[in-house]
Amino acid sequence: MSEAYVIDEAAEKREITRRYRNLLRSHKRSKNPAERKRIRKAFDVAVEAHREDRRKTGEPYIYHPIEVAHIVSAEMGLDTTSVVAALLHDTVEDTYITLEDIENLFGEKERYLIDGLTKIKGVLDHSTSMQAENFRKMILTLSDDVRVILIKLADRLHNMRTLDSMPRPKQLKIANETSYMYAPLAHRLGLYSIKTELEDLSLKYTEPEAYAEIVEKLKRSKSGRTRFINRFSKPIIDDLQKAGIQFELKGRTKSVYSIWKKMKTKHIPFEEVYDVFAIRIIMDTDSLEQEKNLCWNAYSMVTDHYKPNTERLRDWISNPKSNGYESLHATVMSDSGKWVEVQIRSRRMDEIAEKGLAAHWKYKDGGAGKQNSLDMWLHQVREMLENPDADAINFIDDFKLNLFAEEIFVFTPTGDLKKLPVNATALDFAFEIHSQVGARTIGAKVNARLVPLSHQLKSGDQVEIITSKNQRPTEDWLNFVITGKAKSKIRESLKEKKKEVAQDGKEILKRKFKSLKADYISANVELLRKHYKTETTTDFYFEIATGKIDLKKLKGYEISNGRLTFPKKKVDAPKPKEKKSPAALPGKSDTLILNDNNTNMEYKLAPCCSPIPGDDIFGFVTIGDGIKIHRTNCPNAVQMLSKFDYRVIKAKWSSQKEKESLAFIRFEGIDDIGLVHTITDTISRQLSVNMKSISFESHDGIFTGDISLYIHNTTHLNKLIREMENIKGVTRVMRVEKPNE
Ligand code: MN
Repeated sequence: MSEAYVIDEAAEKREITRRYRNLLRSHKRSKNPAERKRIRKAFDVAVEAHREDRRKTGEPYIYHPIEVAHIVSAEMGLDTTSVVAALLHDTVEDTYITLEDIENLFGEKERYLIDGLTKIKGVLDHSTSMQAENFRKMILTLSDDVRVILIKLADRLHNMRTLDSMPRPKQLKIANETSYMYAPLAHRLGLYSIKTELEDLSLKYTEPEAYAEIVEKLKRSKSGRTRFINRFSKPIIDDLQKAGIQFELKGRTKSVYSIWKKMKTKHIPFEEVYDVFAIRIIMDTDSLEQEKNLCWNAYSMVTDHYKPNTERLRDWISNPKSNGYESLHATVMSDSGKWVEVQIRSRRMDEIAEKGLAAHWKYKDGGAGKQNSLDMWLHQVREMLENPDADAINFIDDFKLNLFAEEIFVFTPTGDLKKLPVNATALDFAFEIHSQVGARTIGAKVNARLVPLSHQLKSGDQVEIITSKNQRPTEDWLNFVITGKAKSKIRESLKEKKKEVAQDGKEILKRKFKSLKADYISANVELLRKHYKTETTTDFYFEIATGKIDLKKLKGYEISNGRLTFPKKKVDAPKPKEKKSPAALPGKSDTLILNDNNTNMEYKLAPCCSPIPGDDIFGFVTIGDGIKIHRTNCPNAVQMLSKFDYRVIKAKWSSQKEKESLAFIRFEGIDDIGLVHTITDTISRQLSVNMKSISFESHDGIFTGDISLYIHNTTHLNKLIREMENIKGVTRVMRVEKPNE
């Protein structure tokens, strides 16, 4: 809790009413008296049920469901049933209200939605390491009624907007989970503005300093950007007006998160990322038929004034993305030589891009083909879920893969268009046609030329698959497919094959038991399986069949009355498994203190982010290599914190005097004789910092250098970076995670 919260019941009552009115105003259908009544009823039930509950801030709990309902209505444009469900979403889990009550008071549909939401909440709250599984359950529900997932997203969004009052470890967990699971989901559903906000908010908590810096710089550069955009847009606006077109022109702002990501991946400063400008032209049309023409019309007006880069023309109107996104993107050269991206679209396309799914529903009757891509996606999700053996972690990886991939378009021999992610291979295509075709593939012809299964496809390729009924998938196939569908089908088939082989192992074991005069009973089989430390009975049989387990070498057993036993001391204790329960982890409940002489835990600093004292850190229990210390902003942190959080332990630096740690700095400057000398002199002589290595490279008058040096802590490092920035000729200095290879 940040500040003490003083309860003033009268003021709270006014605030609840204000928020409720705001909700009604946002919901157009509340003008209908019957629908307004349903919302009022849900509101009354929720207020009464949460009467005693308060949020972490101290505020009345009811603020939360009202705000979630407001998001559902105002930002997603969903129906009254969704607003009702959002108001009640926490009642069944947290209060005396039951699902039967919901059904009696409201109806079957409301019961169904709240049941789904309660289940998701239940699993999320009461588990530490099952996020992937929860996610799968969420998707399962989604395939029945997508409103469940939309309300869940609204719930998460409001929790992210009010994350301030949570303790720091909880903030990190929720923020990571958000960027790992919820933001991609919002993206896939086409909810761009919500996706962007979720990403920005999660950055605010995982990288507070970087976030604040970008926000500040955006604020400062605003007027300059506005001036540039106004000058650039002027001739386009004139032309559009002359043609009598109704339109709106917006200067697009990049999100904080997308700026940060570009700075990080390309190692470039804010100014360089922000040098990319974009505007959006949104036009009002009377009919769907006009849209395409009008967009190309506007394109021609833009290119009358500015020269286009034809390689960067994207026509998402003729070929919409599978989440329904439609728009025409062109990149043109401004008079001052800057590239500007121009997005051209109709009002309908814009609404779909911003509100996603909800807008899809709105336009469902108008755009026949548009709904199809969404249905196709839901169909794909369902297909993956129907594979009962796919384990949750694999699932989320496969799913994520699909979420982030860009698409390519390829053709079947009969000219049908298929969408695949970028880098998809001929084998992916075969599985896309049909899982039976995929499993029997021996080769492919791309544009009439024979290619291997691993051949990567490009947009526009025509692909013919060659099959043989004797063909079976093999383990290495997993290396040349990238689609979730192909992966899960191949795994399924490998599992089948393993089961077949395991049958042979079972027979071998039966014969062995016979010769030993041991009974073939599950107690005996289990005992042996554990003796050989195999995970499952199928694995056990499989290893016997393949000879990895040699029963001839079995020693140290006794048999009496058909029962097999191993005298105690000869049996090795089973090796610890990878997934320890949290309680079994060393000092899970404690914080690991680094650089402390009293610490009895072994740890290593992770080479992927090279933490130094002062960095925000956590410990991660690795398999077979002890505890590794990572920075919370390590490139791998999102994965570790969200997928394996049961292996995460708290860690912090001790307040004792730090030993020196190795840190890495990269810098750029204008090539100048003597500058290298000035830099090394500043570092080693004036600042008395020891350098471990230093390397320079010079190219077209610009040099870049990498230094590894020993420093005490982050304060020390930041001071050094500031000093270096002050050296004349140095344009940029930054800390990097790893030495330059
Ligand atoms: Mn909630």
